[in-house]
Amino acid sequence: MTSETDATTDSASTSTDGVSADAAAGGLSSRHPNFGRITAGDAGDSALAAALQKVLDGAWSESRAETRAALTPELLNPLGLTMEEQRDHTLEQLQRLADSGMPKLGFRAEDGGTGDTGAALTSFEMLGHLDLSVMVKAGVQWGLFGGAIANLGDDATRQKYLPDVMSLKLLGCFAMTEIGQGSDVQNLETTATFDNATGEFVVNTPTPSAEKAYIGNAGRDGRLAATFAQLITIEDGEEQHHGVHCLLVPIRDEAGNTLPGVTTTDHGHKGGLLGVDNGRIWFDNVRVPREALLNRFGSVDEQGRYSSPIESVGARFFTMLGTLIRGRVSVGAASGASARTALALAVRYALVRRQFEHPETGRGIPLLEYREHQRRLMPRVARAYAYACAQNAIVAELAEFEKDPDAFDEVRRREMETHAAGIKATVTAFANDTLTEARLACGGAGFMAENMLTEMRKDCDVFSTFEGDNVVLTQLVGKELMGAYAAEFGNMDQLETVGFAINTVADVVQEKVRASTLWQKVVDAVTDREHTDFLDRGNQLEILVDREEHLLETVARRLRKAQGEDASAAFKVFNSAQDHLLAAGRAHMDSWVFARFAEAVDECEDPEAKKLLGTLCDLYVLDIIDGDKGWFLEHNRLTTERTKAATAAYNRLCTKLAGQARTLVDGFAVPEFVFAVPMLNGGGVDKPGEPAGL
Ligand SMILES: Cc1cc2nc3c(=O)[nH]c(=O)nc-3n(C[C@H](O)[C@H](O)[C@H](O)COP(=O)(O)OP(=O)(O)OC[C@H]3O[C@@H](n4cnc5c(N)ncnc54)[C@H](O)[C@@H]3O)c2cc1C
Repeated sequence: MTSETDATTDSASTSTDGVSADAAAGGLSSRHPNFGRITAGDAGDSALAAALQKVLDGAWSESRAETRAALTPELLNPLGLTMEEQRDHTLEQLQRLADSGMPKLGFRAEDGGTGDTGAALTSFEMLGHLDLSVMVKAGVQWGLFGGAIANLGDDATRQKYLPDVMSLKLLGCFAMTEIGQGSDVQNLETTATFDNATGEFVVNTPTPSAEKAYIGNAGRDGRLAATFAQLITIEDGEEQHHGVHCLLVPIRDEAGNTLPGVTTTDHGHKGGLLGVDNGRIWFDNVRVPREALLNRFGSVDEQGRYSSPIESVGARFFTMLGTLIRGRVSVGAASGASARTALALAVRYALVRRQFEHPETGRGIPLLEYREHQRRLMPRVARAYAYACAQNAIVAELAEFEKDPDAFDEVRRREMETHAAGIKATVTAFANDTLTEARLACGGAGFMAENMLTEMRKDCDVFSTFEGDNVVLTQLVGKELMGAYAAEFGNMDQLETVGFAINTVADVVQEKVRASTLWQKVVDAVTDREHTDFLDRGNQLEILVDREEHLLETVARRLRKAQGEDASAAFKVFNSAQDHLLAAGRAHMDSWVFARFAEAVDECEDPEAKKLLGTLCDLYVLDIIDGDKGWFLEHNRLTTERTKAATAAYNRLCTKLAGQARTLVDGFAVPEFVFAVPMLNGGGVDKPGEPAGL
């Protein structure tokens, strides 16, 4: 049953880059006889898995344990239901969550909640292990709709609505996107004009492109819509435009009938998330009281006069959006959980599924013994660990901010917002890539809906689009690094962005030095001695930071050429450098994630888990180098000998970590009932008469 074969035929040799195989394995092979060996049906090392789980659970381990205990098979995506049945099922699960009190975690005590942002975000994240329809509908209801009221509403409004939002007595929408304006939210067209004569706002869809589209809960269940519109007042006989604001507009009565002046339609079947009712909304001069305006950043008095604590329209808009980043953080986190579930399924399958006979034993070879299979799964396992640690860091930052906003100066707050955007784009892209690779890695079984991967893949797809399209968010990271988004926030045009580019590199370096004491420790180590070893943390830092800084410096130089040009010429320069700017944004996120992962490794108290995590961190960096080899060669950062050595080290680490694969995915702590899928329970895995094990 437990007989083994050594899968690492080249692991005993000394590597070409001067790194011994044992060092490449983080020194683990001497203490772990199974390290680098594939054992079919391996049950993993439960103590080590528990130590790894502790690192991933992070600061909110208690609330994660509570949520984990509450996760049941009903929260899995049910198969074979009609769209209406699945929507009913999803709504039932939401009611169960509401009854359990979980949504209260995300709301302040004075609003009837229990006020623990970190616990709320990590609970949402864990829903991502199971049915993403439930996670998304919960996110729309409590994160977006409830979040808009909680963050933008005054005391009276919060007290009026939030208890019913939490209990699910009142279902609502977050109606921001319009069919004509998706990513360009600042220019949406819906209007909310104050009528001085009646003291009401008139909410209107003035053009076909102002139709609210794709809105969660708008297709069927929503009663009240947090509606984003251009706020207009008439002061001294003149129209005054104050930019985008949010108003609560009733769209249906309690029985579900659409209200006068409101039109809704149902988007029906989508490419996934069948349990969520997305729809369109139009307003035909719908009147709502003055109190419908969520007035934290702008209010209108009884005389129809507008006032705001923030003067600039652009700054006001971005400050308002900044208060709503929780949704973005949740989406990244849940997609990461979904990727971890997929990897756990694919790794378990790869340990029991055999293809082709071993020449020595004549027995079937477990998939994970193949080098290519190791290369497909293990770097993604490493990234899953890295992103989970980075996600924990952003959750901790947001929780601290919500507890004490005054402790954050503008620079720190903007950094948090930038990293929330960047991590959302990074992790949702990773999740989509991983779900596809995990499905392919399970062959035909992976394509059977009963084995979960196809449904998860369909549901996760749109995570790259909503809560900010990934390209647009990555560009935002790049622009922030360029110094854009500064001072005038979103008011900055292309020319101003170019002007700000000049101080780029110094800003970035300063930001890194500020980031953590660990970072400083590693920076000191790099300047102290010469490093060339790919497995040296200091050298890894140097490789990643050098790439980021080079990309930033060169894009800044390109953008600077546009100074003095008119807006049209400046746009041309900016647009021709867009791919460059995006590459800089991605490079920044790679090194930011690396820093957060390295910190988590540094803080791990269990020595064996720490070693294993250190090896995962090495593979994370080597995966980046492998993926961007062309850049490192083109820019003379690495010679061909060095990139070949990096590939050799990469392969060795994949093989070494494959020997611990089951333990590594057990560290994800995906609920065990997820693995009751046919492909892992005798569904054609073993050939008749073939004994288990090698
Ligand atoms: C299932 C689903 C649920 C949703 N739920 C809600 C909801 O509840 N509430 C809500 O308000 N909205 C919701 N949305 C809307 C969602 O937020 C938008 O779809 C998203 O912001 C993208 O806008 P868009 O679809 O108009 O795409 P576009 O902005 O038109 O983007 C289309 C493509 O162009 C690219 N692109 C756009 N701008 C640039 C640029 N400057 N440079 C380079 N490339 C660019 C993008 O990368 C993308 O590939 C939902 C969408 C979906 C699909």
